[in-house]
Amino acid sequence: MPMKLSSRVKNVSASVTLAVTAKAKKMKQEGIDVIGFGSGEPDFDTPQEIKDAAIKAINNGLTKYTPASGTDDLKQAICDKFKRDNSLDYKPSQIVVSCGAKHSIYNIIQAICDRGDEVIIPSPFWLSYPEMVSLAEGRAVFIETDERSDFKMSPDKFKAAITKKTKALILNSPSNPTGCVYSAAELKDIAEIAVKNDILVISDEIYEKILFNGRKHESIASAGGGIFKSTVVVNGVSKSFAMTGWRIGYIASPDDELISAVKNLQSHSTSNPASISQAASLEAVRGGEKSVEQMVAEFEKRRDYITERVNAIKGLSCFKPEGAFYVFCRIENKDLSGIKLTERLLEEAGVAVVPGEPFGSGKHIRLSFATGMDNIRNGMDRIEEWFKHSV
Ligand code: PMP
Repeated sequence: MPMKLSSRVKNVSASVTLAVTAKAKKMKQEGIDVIGFGSGEPDFDTPQEIKDAAIKAINNGLTKYTPASGTDDLKQAICDKFKRDNSLDYKPSQIVVSCGAKHSIYNIIQAICDRGDEVIIPSPFWLSYPEMVSLAEGRAVFIETDERSDFKMSPDKFKAAITKKTKALILNSPSNPTGCVYSAAELKDIAEIAVKNDILVISDEIYEKILFNGRKHESIASAGGGIFKSTVVVNGVSKSFAMTGWRIGYIASPDDELISAVKNLQSHSTSNPASISQAASLEAVRGGEKSVEQMVAEFEKRRDYITERVNAIKGLSCFKPEGAFYVFCRIENKDLSGIKLTERLLEEAGVAVVPGEPFGSGKHIRLSFATGMDNIRNGMDRIEEWFKHSV
C-alpha cells in the first residue's frame, strides 16, 4: 500500500537550489569543468580560535545535554552582543538558541501561525520563508518589489497588504537574494505600521555583519515607538563567522509568551542545539570581530568586481548589493526564464547559478560571490561569452 503522507508535507516543494547543485556536482564528478556560483555560505574557514574553543569543550567534557534553549553563558553573551552591536536590551531568559537561524524561524512560525493566518513576505524572499509558513498551515502574502525601489518594500504597499488575518511580517535586511539593506528611516516607517496594526515583525538579521561601504547594521527592533515589543530578532553565527555547519542560530524577544512557546516546542523536538557548537559560538559571539572584518573586506572587493562584470553583459543587469554575498541579476531577454537560463548556463557554459524562481522571480538568476576571485573571473568570462553567442 502506498504511504499516506500528510497534506502539510505534500505541499512542500522540493528545493530547486538543491537540484541545481546536485546536477552541477554530478557533472563535476563526470570530469566536466563547472564553475559554481551557487554557494550560500562563506568560502572562508571557521576562525581558528572558534575551532579551538570547540576542541576545548570536547576535552573538558561539555558533551552532555544543555538546557533545551541553550546554555546560560551563551545566552548572556548573546545579550551582550545585542547591547554592544544593536543597543538592544534583552535578558538571557528572552533568548532561545536553536539549530541554525533556519530552525529559529521555523520555530517562530510554528509558534504563531494558525490555519489561514497570513504572513507578509516582501518578494524576492529567502526561499524557505513561504515553505515554513505553509508547513504551519498559514498563508504567505507576497509584496512585489524590484530594482526601481532597490528591492525594498514601501510603507504604502505594506499597509495595503494588511488584513484582519495578518499575523506577522518577515523582514530580511541585509537580504538574501537581493542584497538590499533598509535604512533606519525606512525601518521606522515600517515599524510604525506594524505597531499600529499589532503585527509581529520577524526580523531576520543573519547577514548583519556582511555590509559594505562601512555601513552599520540597523535592527528594526531599535526603531522606537513600541516596535521593540513587537519584534522577534533572528540572528546566528552561520554567515558572520563562517560557521554554517555548526548549526547555531538564535532569537530574541521581550514577549515572554512567544519565547516560552518556542522553548516548549524546541524541548519536544530537537532539545538543545549541539553542546560543542554552543561552546564554539560562545567564542564567536564574544570576540571574532577581526576575522569578520577581513572576510567583509574580501567580499566587498568581489562585490565591486562582479557587479561591474554583470552590468557589462548585454542581456543581464544587477543592482549593486549593499550587504550579504549575492548579486540578483535581471534577465533582459523576455523569452528566457531564470530556470531556463540556469539550465543553459550549466549545460552550455559550464557555470552553475541559482534560478530566481524559488526566490519569487522568474526574471532573475542569483550569483553568489562567496567563492574565490579566480572562480568569479573565470565564471564571468564564461557567462559573458555565452551571452555574446547564444542569445
Ligand atoms: N536566513 C537567510 C536569509 C539565509 O540566507 C539563511 C541561510 N541561507 C538562513 C536564514 C539560515 O541560516 P542558518 O544556516 O543559520 O540556518
